[in-house]
Order: sequence, then C-alpha cells, then structure tokens
Amino acid sequence: MPKTLPDGATADLESGAPPVAPTGSGAATCAFITYGCRLNQYDTQAIREEVLNLGYEEIEGDRNLDLIVVNSCTVTQHSGDKVEGKVRSLAKGNPGATILVTGCLTESDRTRLALIPGVEHLVGNEEKDLIPAIVEGHARAGARKVRRHDRSIFDLGVSTFSGHTRAFIKVQDGCDSFCSYCIIPYLRGASRSRSPADVVAEATRLANAGHREVVLTGIHLREYGGDLDLTDGLVTLLTDLRAIEGIDRVRLSSIGERAFTVPFLELFANDPGLCPAFHIPLQSGSDTVLERMGRDYTQAEYLDTLERVRAALPRATITTDLMIGFPGETEAEFVESLEVCGRSRFLHTHIFPYSVRPRTKAARLPDHVPVEVKTGRVRQARKLAETLAASERNRRVGDRVSVLIEKRGGGEVSGLSREGLRVFIGTDGASRPIERGSEVEAVLVASRENGLEGRIDG
Ligand code: SF4
Repeated sequence: MPKTLPDGATADLESGAPPVAPTGSGAATCAFITYGCRLNQYDTQAIREEVLNLGYEEIEGDRNLDLIVVNSCTVTQHSGDKVEGKVRSLAKGNPGATILVTGCLTESDRTRLALIPGVEHLVGNEEKDLIPAIVEGHARAGARKVRRHDRSIFDLGVSTFSGHTRAFIKVQDGCDSFCSYCIIPYLRGASRSRSPADVVAEATRLANAGHREVVLTGIHLREYGGDLDLTDGLVTLLTDLRAIEGIDRVRLSSIGERAFTVPFLELFANDPGLCPAFHIPLQSGSDTVLERMGRDYTQAEYLDTLERVRAALPRATITTDLMIGFPGETEAEFVESLEVCGRSRFLHTHIFPYSVRPRTKAARLPDHVPVEVKTGRVRQARKLAETLAASERNRRVGDRVSVLIEKRGGGEVSGLSREGLRVFIGTDGASRPIERGSEVEAVLVASRENGLEGRIDG
C-alpha cells in the first residue's frame, strides 16, 4: 500500500515486503545498529530482546543478514548523513534483507530514507513497540496515528544488557522545553514519564540478571513525574530503586540544573549508592546567548547550582555540553562561555558546533556564524576543556574510590568509580583475581589521559 510521506510524495514502502520468518534449517539472522543517545541504546536493547524471542539469531558483521534494524539519530546534520550512508551500504551488501529503520531520522527525514533502495519499513519513535509485530507481518509501519502524548513508548522493556555491568533504564521520554535550536520536541513529542512501579519492576529484573548498577535515562530527566502529578518524582523514584536488593549503585544520565533541589541533594548526600556524577548541560556561558537559545537559566543560576552541588557533595564530578557558534554568537559571548568553563571544574566537556536543524526557531535567526569562525572556536574551546579536565583529574589523585570493574585486558582492569571517574588498575602481581562485575576499593595514584590509575586498597 502506498505510504504518504510528509512532503506529499509517495513511496511503496510496505508492499512486497513479506515478513522474514526464521527458517527450519537454521535461524534467520539479524543485526541491530544504533546511533545517538542513551535512550536509543535502551530502545534498541528492548527491540533486540523482542526480536530474538521471535527466533532470530544476532550475528556479527555487515553481511549475510536477513533482518537489519537501524535505530537512527538526527541530532546534527552529520548524524543524519552517517545513518543514511550506513543504511545504503547495508542495503547494498544484503540485497535480500528486510531493512527496518526507526528513530529520529524517520520522523525528520522520511523521504530521504524512503528513497534508499531496500528500505522496507520506516517506524516512527511512537511505534517502536510495534516492531516485533511488523517483523512478523502482523502490523504495518505508519498504521498508528501519531500520538504525541501516548505512553506506548514505554511498552517495550529490557531484562538484561548482556556483556555490560551497568544497565540503562528509560524512565522518561519527550520534551516540552522547545529550546530554539533543538528538534527533539518535534521528533519525540511531549514529556512523558514511565510509572514508578514499571521502573521498579524493570530494575528488579535487571538486578536479578546480575546488574549492580542502573543508569536512569531520559530526554529531560528533571521533568520526571510532572505528567504523573508526582511531587518530587525523581527523589521518590531514586528512593524506591535503592530499596531493591542487588542494586548497589544508581546513576543519572544528563540532568538539567533545576533538578538540584534541597531534597534531591540531601538524598544524594545521605546515600553513597547514589552516584555523585552529574552531566549538567551548559550550552553557553553567555546570558544573551542562553536567552536566544530559550534556555531557562542564566549564567549566575548555573554557577550557583554547581556551587550548591559541590557544597553538598564535595566528591561529585560534573560534566557538560557546550554548543559553539549559535547564531549571532559574538567573540565576547564565546569568551564568556570559556570563562564559565574556567570556573566550573568540568571533568569533561562535550563541545560541538551549532548545526542548523530545519523547523527550529534558531534556523530562522539572523547572523549565522561562518563555518571557519565556528571551527576555530571549537578548536580553542576543546583545547581549554582538555587542560581543565586534566587538572580536575589531577585534583583527584590520592582519593579512595569504589570501582565497578567493566573490562579486563592488557595487564589491567578498568571501570567507573561512583563519582564517574574512569579508573585503570594494574593486575600484575595482584594477590587475587579481580573479576568483571566486582566492586573494588582503590586509591588513585596518578592521572592519565581519559582517566586515573588506581591501586587496590587493602
Ligand atoms: S531541554 Fe532543550 S535541548 Fe534538551 S531536549 Fe528539550 S528542547 Fe532539546
């Protein structure tokens, strides 16, 4: 049946796309490719579990595939290009495969994906829960009317992140903030929270599967519970999660500066199992740029938040995002951002150049910054960020930390401390083996690129 595309063009996407049934002579093969944020990683894991339950076998590599699921991202122009290139190459290398693309690019640029030969199903963000039925031929992509307040986005769940010590849990999706540069509210709809009972049930399953740490993810975590009329929704949820046997550590992904209320900070201060590692997006250090971006804080409010976090949680680490070259950004406004970075002791700063996203308010603003100016500022900001990160790591030398071991190899093990520090521990001459998934106490003895060296304590 012809599908109507957003620009009025049509493409016969679903016709002639029979379901791929696992065969009797051996399971049909599949692969999952994920781009973008933690939410996408979570969604892919949930989709993977459902598809594997249908009898598919996930294999390594880009060839001999019967089913390919691509969970896409379009946060920048570059990410959209990467997805398109990958889908084209997979389609070319697997001429008989069923190719299903989901995620944000299917919302923002359906035509572009629909024109790739071999792509059979374009599944919107709000239909991800239908993917198993689409794969089986029982449902059709695009059949569900877009419902931007629908909670079916939480209908998929996960029971394990095999191979990982940490497990992610999606607790919130969507956003109502409409920052002027951001396309996410158009692609993921209104802010919606998953019910606390559902989150606790999933965390219990993950604990039973051996995960000792869970990471709560969402597009706008600070908003958790608002749509469910919960007061202090995040504080209550964190308390409930810590009551689950086996969940020793709970970490938050990116969180807005307004989340740091007194009860929130008190909860973290009183429970070492709540990881004092926060990613608090700054985006710009200039009030005039923040206003044009439509952000709801000022430079002073942001810096005040960092001060309150550090007063309540002296061991906390803070990382951030910084956008360079927002329309109209002057040299003086850029320098203000650098100055805020200089005062903020960020452990890591994710620096990225502004890129135009069609449909957003910022795309229509005047005075777009020339590419060469943007590139020069990005280079300058990255250099500063590296120097500041190194001094923040050096400041930690001598600290005693608990490290959840994630990797082994090359004569060392490595993992994350509760404070979000990546710690490398030599195993040569160790008195006992250090297992993956164990939490060990270590003293930080030296700083190195992207982390710190530790020595087992005791
Ligand atoms: S808070 Fe702003 S930047 Fe973040 S998802 Fe919402 S609109 Fe986008």
